[in-house]
Amino acid sequence: MQTESIIEIKNLQKKFGDHEVLRDINLDVHRGEVVSIIGRSGSGKSTLLRSINLLETPTSGEIDFNGSNILARDFDLQHYRAKVGMVFQSFNLFNNLTVLDNIVVPQQTVLKRDTATAKQHATEILEQMGMAPFVNAKPAQLSGGQKQRVAIARAVAMDPDVLLFDEPTSALDPEMVDDVLAAMSALAHTGLTMIIVTHEMAFARDISDRVVFMDQGVIAEDGSPEQIFNHPQEARTQEFLKRYL
Ligand code: ADP
Ligand code: MG
Repeated sequence: MQTESIIEIKNLQKKFGDHEVLRDINLDVHRGEVVSIIGRSGSGKSTLLRSINLLETPTSGEIDFNGSNILARDFDLQHYRAKVGMVFQSFNLFNNLTVLDNIVVPQQTVLKRDTATAKQHATEILEQMGMAPFVNAKPAQLSGGQKQRVAIARAVAMDPDVLLFDEPTSALDPEMVDDVLAAMSALAHTGLTMIIVTHEMAFARDISDRVVFMDQGVIAEDGSPEQIFNHPQEARTQEFLKRYL
C-alpha cells in the first residue's frame, strides 16, 4: 500500500562557501516508513539530516512536510520543530537534570504540558526503553548506551511525526550497541517515521523499508534493503558495501 508522503525533498542543495555538500537531493519519505541513509564519512549524510531539521539552512531546493514547504517564509517553524525530532551521536542530555527531568522539561517548555501529564508520559516511555530503574539518576551515572536510550526517550516523549537519527550508536562501546538498536527496532514497529544515518549495515537491512546510499553529496542509489545490499546497481555502492558486508 502506498501511503502519503510526510517529507518530500526536491532538488535540495547545500553549500558551505564554495563547497557543494549536497547536490540535487530528491527524496520522498512516506508516513510510517523507516529509511536508512548509508555512505562514507563526508558524503553529506549529517548535512542532509540537519537540513531536514533546519539546523542547517539549505542553499536552494525545497523540503515539504505534509505538503508544505518548510523553507517558505510563512511556514510555522515552531510547530515543525516539535514534530520532527533528532537523536545525535553525542546524546546532548542536560547533565544537571535527572533522567526523568530530561524527558519532562522539554514537554513542559515546548509542548506546555502540565507536570503530571509530562511525568506520566516520560515514565511510560522510559519503561519501554528499559530505563525505568534509572529515573532519578543523573546522566553522568549512566553508560553510553543508557544515555542514548534516555535521549531517544526524550525525543519520543515529544510525540514526533518523524524522528531523525544521526549515527546513534557510533559513540558507543560495542557491547552497548545492541540495546540501543533494539530500542530503535521497537520504535520502528510502532509505525513512527524514522530516517536513520547508520554504519550498522545488518541493522539497516533488517529495520528499513528503504535504504539510501549517499556519495559525494548525491543520492547515488535508493532502493529496498534487498536491492541495495544484495543487488546494488552502482559500482560505488558495491565498492562501499565491500568494506562493510
Ligand atoms: P557525513 O555525515 O556523511 O560524514 P557531513 O554532512 O558531516 O558528512 O559533511 C559533508 C561535507 O560537508 C564534509 O566535507 C564536511 O567537511 C562539510 N561540512 C559539514 N558541515 C560543515 C560546516 N558547518 N562548514 C563547512 N563545511 C562543512
Ligand atoms: Mg555525519
